[in-house]
Amino acid sequence: MTEAGSFAEKVKQQADIVRVVGEYVRLKKTGKDFSGLCPFHQEKTPSFTVSPIKQIFYCFGCGRGGDVYNFVMDMEKCEFPEAVKLVAEKCGIAIPRQKEHSPEERKENQQRSVLVEMHREAQAFFAKQLEGTLEGKAARAYLEDRGLDKEAIAQFGIGYAPSGGDALLRHLKHKYNEKLLVESGLVSRDQSAGRLFDRFRRRITFPISNESGKIVAFGARALGDDMPKYLNSPETLIYSKSNLLYHMDRAKEGIRRQDFAILVEGYMDAIAVARAGISNVVASCGTSLAEPQIKLLQRFTKRVIVNYDPDTAGQAATERSLSLLLEQDFELRVLALPPVGDKKADPDLFIRERGKDEYLKLLKEAPPYVDYLIARARQMDLTTGEGKQRALNFLLPYIRKIPNAILRSEWATRIAQQLRIDEPLLRSALSKAAKERRSEIKTSPELIGRAAKPVERRLIRMLAEAQGFRQELAKHLQNARLYHGLETEKIFAALVIASLSGQSVEATEVGAVLEERDRRLLFEILFEEANEPTWEEAMSCVEALQHRQAEHELADVQRSIEANPASPEMRGLLEKKQELMRRLAAAR
Ligand SMILES: [Zn+2]
Repeated sequence: MTEAGSFAEKVKQQADIVRVVGEYVRLKKTGKDFSGLCPFHQEKTPSFTVSPIKQIFYCFGCGRGGDVYNFVMDMEKCEFPEAVKLVAEKCGIAIPRQKEHSPEERKENQQRSVLVEMHREAQAFFAKQLEGTLEGKAARAYLEDRGLDKEAIAQFGIGYAPSGGDALLRHLKHKYNEKLLVESGLVSRDQSAGRLFDRFRRRITFPISNESGKIVAFGARALGDDMPKYLNSPETLIYSKSNLLYHMDRAKEGIRRQDFAILVEGYMDAIAVARAGISNVVASCGTSLAEPQIKLLQRFTKRVIVNYDPDTAGQAATERSLSLLLEQDFELRVLALPPVGDKKADPDLFIRERGKDEYLKLLKEAPPYVDYLIARARQMDLTTGEGKQRALNFLLPYIRKIPNAILRSEWATRIAQQLRIDEPLLRSALSKAAKERRSEIKTSPELIGRAAKPVERRLIRMLAEAQGFRQELAKHLQNARLYHGLETEKIFAALVIASLSGQSVEATEVGAVLEERDRRLLFEILFEEANEPTWEEAMSCVEALQHRQAEHELADVQRSIEANPASPEMRGLLEKKQELMRRLAAAR
């Protein structure tokens, strides 16, 4: 944990937990705190809370909580030293001296940076091939034809991989060993002869960067009729297709600012849209969206306009993506571009042929996803009962994902009208679906600790936060053994010990010594709305505890008296009873 005066403590003081958490979770200000959807468990309404004042977070759903380091450790699945380093980096705080990692870690980190460096070199090489070689000329002509001028080529780092088969290999092999070359995915090994050769040959190359802008892979389009038309880097130590969205490194600012993202299929589409001046565009670079990509996206926005290709594969991908995004409660619209002439138009083609203003106009008018789905259903054969049933079956899974009942009902009416389906029939199907939905919703984990009495909760809060009199209060509670036997006894004990030490009390550290149930309760209490505590209030809480203590003692005495009327201690017991009754009466 953070020792006083340590680097970790210094970083923690400078780091703002809201900013750090905000890089992973979309936070909204709610009163003094911030809240958002918990990244540690599935939820649709935010129960994840961050306090800028206390610099801690807590999830009322799953019970995770702690300081900025606990958050980063949980999020990045790393150990404490790594979390300190990460937070320091995020906040631009210089790290004094590299801490020694395990040999494996060191090796992997080293390998990662070598692979990144190799990709940077490959990109420079490809760019040179495009710009300065005879072979590259044909590629330049192709790009120009696609509306990509010099500026665009430079902006997106587009290059050309020559046809020779070992051009890049020859360029890199004096610097990197064979093993690394193969691991980079830039070079492949011939299965039979074991010979190395370039993965990308006679292709236009598009560097694929990770979220922080480092090139980790390439997408490559065949210049001729080579198959496949598009070829990507394989999965490597630095590249995982499902973890990455193309153009996210440049789009994230725009997405955050405008609070929506445009999702397209390929990098050519993303480039075309970005070139049209719309920066908040990302490409899934594959036909379907993967879950990690959705997680990445929702760190920046919960609103998406899906603009996939209008072909059959694109439609299927649109519907699959809609379904996945709806599950995560995204607000969705779909832009289905009209054909250009007799050609089905992807964003790239559309912008080239019809201009960016036309695209922008359609983007603004992009309908909610349900309209898109109804339009799709209307393309089905609706003349027969069977056809209608099919259309309905196509729509129902989406409709039942609409969380709002009024909206759901409105859509039911519209669907009935548009598909000419008997409305009562549709409604009964919907309500059946709604029931299934309800049964799907998981009951939230029980709110633990509600049992703790307000007085206890208040005192716990004061022990944790009332800098001015915390120590004094701890003494009172300790001397009179006031918290003994309470449900919250262990929380009190931990806080009292911490307070009596005279050191500052860190909720996270106190939480760390508690059992799960108590730890949760402590965090809950720390996040309750509360006024500034005063000593008077503290004393009245102490009195209330004394009163309760007396009541309990009285009950005990009474039980002893009744249990054994002939006891030799009867006289003492009766005296004790009298005294307790006096005390209770005086307090009233
Ligand atoms: Zn949670």
